[in-house]
Amino acid sequence: MEKPNRSIQCSVEQCTYHCSDCDYCSLDTVMIGTHEANPTEQRCTDCLSFSAK
Ligand code: SF4
Repeated sequence: MEKPNRSIQCSVEQCTYHCSDCDYCSLDTVMIGTHEANPTEQRCTDCLSFSAK
């Protein structure tokens, strides 16, 4: 079973690293980035550690 990292909450259930039984990431660290040249709001940012199941 994955070990939840209680410092990283995440609700992306489609990610390989999402804990199946709770809304936490199982990685030790994650990289957050952006797909925008000039990010101005929340939806401009992404978890770059995401990996599809
Ligand atoms: S890698 Fe990113 S998207 Fe995947 S579970 Fe962790 S925080 Fe969520």
